[in-house]
Amino acid sequence: MSLFRPDRTFLSYRQVTPALLQDMGVRVLLLDIDNTLAPYEQPEPDEHIRAWLQSLVQAGIQPAFLSNNHADRVELFNQTLALPVKFDAHKPLPGNAKKMIKRLGGDKKSTVLMGDQIFTDVCCAHMTGIRAFLVPPIVDRTDAGTRFKRWMERKILKRYYKKHTNEPDIRQGSPLTKEHKKI
Ligand SMILES: [Mg+2]
Repeated sequence: MSLFRPDRTFLSYRQVTPALLQDMGVRVLLLDIDNTLAPYEQPEPDEHIRAWLQSLVQAGIQPAFLSNNHADRVELFNQTLALPVKFDAHKPLPGNAKKMIKRLGGDKKSTVLMGDQIFTDVCCAHMTGIRAFLVPPIVDRTDAGTRFKRWMERKILKRYYKKHTNEPDIRQGSPLTKEHKKI
């Protein structure tokens, strides 16, 4: 498998339903936080995130956070959720993803990592040997470094959508962006 090519793309985490995960044989879902579930500026999970996570747990799917952000951000976000968590995860390096799968008693075949960045999240998933789901960033940064990364990502996604013609194209951006404009 290509290191950088996602296995599936979704317009937002909300499209990743328990039924879809069960169909795909997923038992452990490793989650990026920033711009995958919430923008950087949102310190705590909103009711949509809570309901979605709860629906996963009720379906027997174990969510866990794998974030490159620091302890204070990640622990505050997780305070009321109390999910398994690894902050400072150093994605794309696979070490912490592997440790988390082991800690949860999972295996590579039934684990997926979902995130918003190809060179961090997708690459980490594939270096770990698990599947990668990609969503568009909720409120993207606009600095030169980020814009360059997005340009590179669009090249990879262009090739991806040549094969996956029936998936919604995430290059159009996240439908969640407008919910967060007020923040
Ligand atoms: Mg992210």
